[in-house]
Amino acid sequence: MHLFADIHQTEHEQVVFCHNKDAGLKAIIAIHNTTLGPALGGLRMWPYETEQDALNDVLRLSRGMTYKAAVAGLNLGGGKSVIIGDPRKDKSEALFRALGRFVESLNGRYITAEDVGIDVNDMEFVFQETNNCVGVHQMHGGSGDPSPFTAFGTLQGIRASLQKVYGHDEIGKHSYAVQGCGHVGYELVKLLRAEDAKVFVTDINDEAVQQCVELGCEAVGIDDIYDVEADVFCPTALGAIVNEKTLPRFKFKIICGAANNQLATEAIGDEVDKRGILYAPDYAVNAGGLMNVSIEFEGYSLDRAMRMTRTIYYNVGKIFQIADDEGITTSLAADRLAEQRIAAIGKLKLPHMGRGHRFPGRERNGN
Ligand code: NAD
Repeated sequence: MHLFADIHQTEHEQVVFCHNKDAGLKAIIAIHNTTLGPALGGLRMWPYETEQDALNDVLRLSRGMTYKAAVAGLNLGGGKSVIIGDPRKDKSEALFRALGRFVESLNGRYITAEDVGIDVNDMEFVFQETNNCVGVHQMHGGSGDPSPFTAFGTLQGIRASLQKVYGHDEIGKHSYAVQGCGHVGYELVKLLRAEDAKVFVTDINDEAVQQCVELGCEAVGIDDIYDVEADVFCPTALGAIVNEKTLPRFKFKIICGAANNQLATEAIGDEVDKRGILYAPDYAVNAGGLMNVSIEFEGYSLDRAMRMTRTIYYNVGKIFQIADDEGITTSLAADRLAEQRIAAIGKLKLPHMGRGHRFPGRERNGN
């Protein structure tokens, strides 16, 4: 393990290794960049094969959060945490409370949330130990499930993409291929069908597909989704699905969906561009969930969450403009937008007033 060499490359500020023998806790918290504000990013629980795998994952994911928050215009930095363990076997109250105490020890520099392998009940235990977590249950005044906001934000990204390619943003005039009908995918399908759009769907879960068919969607096979004659491909399941094997099959004009890391490699991003397909960068498109939880800092408001999520339309449009102006791919343009914002705010040389986060309206049991 070359820890300092790794974090020198990725420019992380702080990496915290958390251990508690009694609770069986082995976790890593990575804080990538706090120029714009406290580092926010979910907690993932996964049976990593090696400690190096866990470290690589937390470093990669926390860096991604810095870029996502920056492009979203949020006053947040990037962070992430991982627990090494099997979410089906190794969960306990003690485990999550131990993790919560480590989060608390960072004094607000890192704020956690739900991610893969973690559910709202686990977060309840984390929340017992620290206020520095978001996405807490609505029962405590939190924002609840972020998926509908992620889907609504994705719809804004689609509208911005239609505007760029077709010169109008009327959802109902186009056809869509939605890969994955889970939490986000199903909500997105509902929004598309509400505009009477033609929607093709696929999922490995037949029940999830059936739910969408009942809304008037057409089901296609798992592998057939790449060949569908639709205007927009909406990946809402897996990463790396735009790759050397799938791209030559695309008849889509636009790729715009909520899944993370859709492009298998940077080179495939260039190839997408060469083929004249517009790619709306995933982390700009799927920021609705992050925007929604960030509102917990100031006291959650549904109205504010909706208004903030609508800004994804402008953020994605801005990225397309930078790509055009600078003659670069949209992925590079998104990174550039993030880096420019961080650099500009970092240069202010004004004392940071440390507004702190009060989380008004939220209440913990027993507090
Ligand atoms: P989910 O697990 O609820 O849904 C994923 C769906 O994809 C499931 O129905 C699953 O059966 C299906 N699926 C898995 N493999 C598939 C395959 N090979 N082909 C077709 N379908 C397949 O997850 P989600 O919360 O809806 O998230 C979807 C994607 O969006 C993920 O990549 C996630 O990281 C990303 N994302 C989600 C949020 C959020 O708010 N939930 C926010 C940002 C990004």
